[in-house]
Amino acid sequence: MKNTISSSRRLIYMLLLLVITASVTLSLVMEHTARNIRRNETPLLNRTIPQMRNLGDFESALLRYQLALDKRFTESITPGRFQLLESMGRGELDAGLLQLRSSLGDGPELAALRAGYLRIIALTPEFERQVGTDPVAARAVLIRMNEEVKALRMRIDALQQQVEDAIYANGTMANRAIGWITGLVHVFDVLALVTCLFMLYHVRARVRVEDELSHQARHDPLTGLAHRRSFEARLAALPDTPHVVVLGTIDRFSRIIGGFGHAFGDRVMVGLAERIRGAAERSGGEVFRLDGANFAILYRMNCGDAQFAEAMSGLRDEVRNPYDCEGHEIFTTLSLGAVSFPLHGANPDALLRNADAALQAARKAGGDRLEVYSQQLNAEAGERLDMESLLRHAVEREELELHYQPQQALQNGGLIGFEALVRWRRMGKLISPAEFIPLAEESGLIVAIGNWVLEQACRQISEWQAETGQRVVVAVNISPRQFAAPGFLAHLEDLLATSHVDPSCLELEITESVMVEDAESAIALLHRLRALGLKLAIDDFGTGYSSLAYLSRFPIHKLKIDQSFVRNMHAVSEQGTIVQATIGLGHSLGLTVIAEGVESETQRAMLSAWRCDEIQGYYYSRPLPAASALNFLEGSLQLQAA
Ligand code: C2E
Ligand code: MG
Ligand code: MG
Repeated sequence: MKNTISSSRRLIYMLLLLVITASVTLSLVMEHTARNIRRNETPLLNRTIPQMRNLGDFESALLRYQLALDKRFTESITPGRFQLLESMGRGELDAGLLQLRSSLGDGPELAALRAGYLRIIALTPEFERQVGTDPVAARAVLIRMNEEVKALRMRIDALQQQVEDAIYANGTMANRAIGWITGLVHVFDVLALVTCLFMLYHVRARVRVEDELSHQARHDPLTGLAHRRSFEARLAALPDTPHVVVLGTIDRFSRIIGGFGHAFGDRVMVGLAERIRGAAERSGGEVFRLDGANFAILYRMNCGDAQFAEAMSGLRDEVRNPYDCEGHEIFTTLSLGAVSFPLHGANPDALLRNADAALQAARKAGGDRLEVYSQQLNAEAGERLDMESLLRHAVEREELELHYQPQQALQNGGLIGFEALVRWRRMGKLISPAEFIPLAEESGLIVAIGNWVLEQACRQISEWQAETGQRVVVAVNISPRQFAAPGFLAHLEDLLATSHVDPSCLELEITESVMVEDAESAIALLHRLRALGLKLAIDDFGTGYSSLAYLSRFPIHKLKIDQSFVRNMHAVSEQGTIVQATIGLGHSLGLTVIAEGVESETQRAMLSAWRCDEIQGYYYSRPLPAASALNFLEGSLQLQAA
């Protein structure tokens, strides 16, 4: 591209140089030719043309002189009149000769003319004498005189012919020179025209490239939508008229990438962006792609307008429609956060901050919804920030503790282990992980918290083993971000080495979402964890976006059926069918299946009938502090012994 531009630029410079050289040359040639024409023209004007006129005058005077002779001979004029005409004619002829001298020069031509003239007028006295007395002799003289006149006229004609030839030659030369110049001007015109056309083409191509570059500089290359910087600039330039800023995100888009790869995700993104643009523009909105699955839309209306509600529901319907991409039906939804100018912010910064708070609220509430900003949202966002800064110090202030929920084997009713569940004790109150784990995930604090949980669980396994002499299995929840953190494997290896815990006593619970970003490296890591001797379980099975193809490649030991299925399985027959099918699926893959959230005997009995291997839930026991968990353990050991 760069090469083409520089070579065509070089060609333009060469053409321009050629045009300049041609124009200078053309000017010189024209100047030279004009000088030549002028040089030939001067004698023509000064000598040749007057010569022609003088010869003509002389010849006319001669003819008049001859006419006077003829008239005298036929006696149509009196002798007195003849004498007058004769002397006038001679005067004219003398004057003619004098004029010819100035144009013809005093050369042989003039001498010949003068000689002829003198010969004629030399016969005049004899003619005069004879004409009244002897007509025959007078006639003979007149004949001689006429012959002399004829000879003189022939000489004049010859001279006139010479002058005509000179004029003609000069004209031919001028014509030829003009023809040359005209040809050169045509060549120059063609050259200039070609150069202009080429420059025009080049300039057009350049303008097109510049337009394209400036479009690219303002737009996202994947979707063709204007990008974040354009959005910020647009927002800053908006006049002080009411408008709405909507921030939107495609819910769980990372799962599509995790399931089908980045290239597929890009294609889906292009299609969804087109739909979002179409729907927004139908309501007069302007769409921008900020990054990833995040969009911004500007509307010239108020949040409270019916028109706005219509625009939002149109937008969400458009995205909610299943999207068919390469034979896969993709189901997505939109989370939207909206703010109105000037109600929710007087400047772009405030508007964006509040729109983001509204969007986060929409996402927290499960997505697929529109949240319009309110003061309360701000307060919640503030609280979240406060909580984050307190959570940052929770590990060092020893505010975290682990509770343990027993798990039961359905076959014999015996205890098979515990799930470690973290709690945050703040000012005497226990805060549920459901409240702070998502925050820890978002802020990255989960890595430190997760490491603490792993260390604590290993310490507990060793302690209980020392106290009871029994191997106790403890399951630990591993969050996706912790799983993907760079030092995760190394930390586990260190921990196993320093705590001397039997790796098969430690079970890691991961969720299907670990394969969202990069399924291949997730599978590779699972293999290495399994090679360490650790137990692996998939938590909350059935709630994720899992692909069965991946599941069969996961080197895991256990499936944990999510409590949402267990909760309703006796009331909603479909849920029961799902639980039953999941148990069958797990078994056919050679996995142990555990159901969580079992609260009643009915649920236990159904699971047992469907050959579920294990259960966990309030029916067997609530999560217990470490001391109570030890009691529970000892109690179940005694039961077993009995
Ligand atoms: P989870 O791993 O699915 O844990 C099971 C959750 O269900 C626990 O809630 C437990 O108390 C609750 N549960 C157990 N049996 C029943 C029952 O019969 N009925 C009902 N309604 N609930 C029951 P908890 O302790 O609040 O933990 C919530 C979630 O927080 C966990 O879900 C897990 O995803 C996460 N979590 C807990 N501890 C940790 C941790 O140490 N690290 C990480 N990364 N996540 C943790
Ligand atoms: Mg769990
Ligand atoms: Mg679970």
